[in-house]
Amino acid sequence: VQVRNSALVQARSRPSPASTDRSGRSALMRRIKGADTGPECSLRRLLWTNGLRYRKHLRVHGVRPDLVFPRQKIAVFVDGCFWHGCPEHYVLPRSRRDFWLAKLDANTDRDRRQTGLLQSQGWLVLRFWEHEVEMAPLQVAEHISQAVSHGVYTPASGWIVTMVEPLSDDGQMERWHLQDRYDQDLRTIEVRVRSTRKWPRKQSRPE
Ligand SMILES: [Zn+2]
Repeated sequence: VQVRNSALVQARSRPSPASTDRSGRSALMRRIKGADTGPECSLRRLLWTNGLRYRKHLRVHGVRPDLVFPRQKIAVFVDGCFWHGCPEHYVLPRSRRDFWLAKLDANTDRDRRQTGLLQSQGWLVLRFWEHEVEMAPLQVAEHISQAVSHGVYTPASGWIVTMVEPLSDDGQMERWHLQDRYDQDLRTIEVRVRSTRKWPRKQSRPE
């Protein structure tokens, strides 16, 4: 793990009360590996109770999506808002900017390549943000269910942030470079006021 500032990462990934009980490092490791995090668990339960049978972290064409429906050739990813460049929740840390920007660039580049590779092999790729899975698991489950039944997925938006340039000395104004997750040719640039807004995190989760 290259991450040294675990306190920062934990703050960004908003650990649940349950995960703060454990050591910071193991909570961080779980999040990095994307395995068995709270929201993803709830989603899996929801799918399971709706009769949707997936494989977890199955390797397809060298890629390991979070959920795989092999027969329907559907790959589902749940992307952490900080690590994968959520356009609503990415926050460029104030210190060690180059390190974090390189990280964001590498992660989003890999995501794009993996999405493109799977698509080129005839797979339908569904990528959801951690905040969507946490805030609207039913809606996410419905999208997956529709995709499994009909082989189609119409995302509301595919934007990811791939680069952030601070524009002012106080670091309040930023230029955001956005790219579409599913269509690499679709790009845009936005000037924004720096925001550290979070989504409302549930106080406790049924485990
Ligand atoms: Zn988000």
